[in-house]
Amino acid sequence: MKLLRAGDCVDSSHRVFSEGSDVFIPLKEDAAGLPGIMEVDISGKPSHVRHLPSGTHGAFDMIGHVAITKIRNRKRAEQLAQWLMETNTTIKSVYLDEGVAGEYRTRKLSLIAGQDLPETEYRENGCSFILDVRLVYFSPRLATERMLVAKSVSSGEKILDMFAGIGPFSINIARIREAAVTAVDSNPHAVSYMKRSIARNRLNGTIDPVLGDSGTEINRMGLFSRIIMNLPHSAFSYVQVAKEHLAPGGILNYYEILDQDTLELRMESFRDMGFKLVSKRVVHGYSPRESMYSLWLELQ
Ligand code: SAM
Repeated sequence: MKLLRAGDCVDSSHRVFSEGSDVFIPLKEDAAGLPGIMEVDISGKPSHVRHLPSGTHGAFDMIGHVAITKIRNRKRAEQLAQWLMETNTTIKSVYLDEGVAGEYRTRKLSLIAGQDLPETEYRENGCSFILDVRLVYFSPRLATERMLVAKSVSSGEKILDMFAGIGPFSINIARIREAAVTAVDSNPHAVSYMKRSIARNRLNGTIDPVLGDSGTEINRMGLFSRIIMNLPHSAFSYVQVAKEHLAPGGILNYYEILDQDTLELRMESFRDMGFKLVSKRVVHGYSPRESMYSLWLELQ
């Protein structure tokens, strides 16, 4: 079976089935025979399972009724979009992601299947959100990370979410912990969707949404027990000011896209600044050499 699959010989529109001691594997018309396998000409049993088009596994994100793919090959992207529309009744819009850009980290999206409905409702870890995928940055790939951070928070913590977007870290935390979160973002659409998302959830803690530049806003704030920095391409330039607002023993939840060499350099810089590494993990891959890292650092 492995050999037949590797040779792209298996016809996935029909089922593999057995009769007595024989196993029947559906082959494509042009599949070359293999030694030890006898070919028989029977009508077979149609499969009800619709397989992903080849080369598209794991190549899309779903945010409510919206699916987003980054597949560069337009034909493959359209095949995937068609498959998504036919196999998943919740999907109404499929967009091709042509890149994240600008201060607000918004995506350039072009519609490749379905209707142009970029405003969507999304759920993760028991939290509910509303957002427009064109107007704000959002990635469902951080759902597990957000849950891990939320669970590590103690009641009574005072937290700054410096690049909060629509507030997924803040809402995940305040839903399960009695913490006071200040959530800052410079994108007015993000803060507006954050307010609407806060209203959709029953929170144990509080969230104070702030529209502005974190680097400036932080100067009128006091000390925090934890600061979350999720701006993976340029967060490091804000670390010094963040450190000045972190209480001794406070935690920095820091995210950056790094390769192995730049990761070592970063860790050295954090040690020199007086941070101790609590944990380090890869959140997701980014390019063949780079990954998005999560660093949990404690201020000594
Ligand atoms: N934390 C959110 C999440 O997990 O979905 C959003 C992260 S997104 C990568 C970065 C966010 O930082 C964007 O929403 C962008 O608008 C915001 N941003 C960029 N520069 C900023 C700044 N100087 N001050 C405040 N927000 C900023």
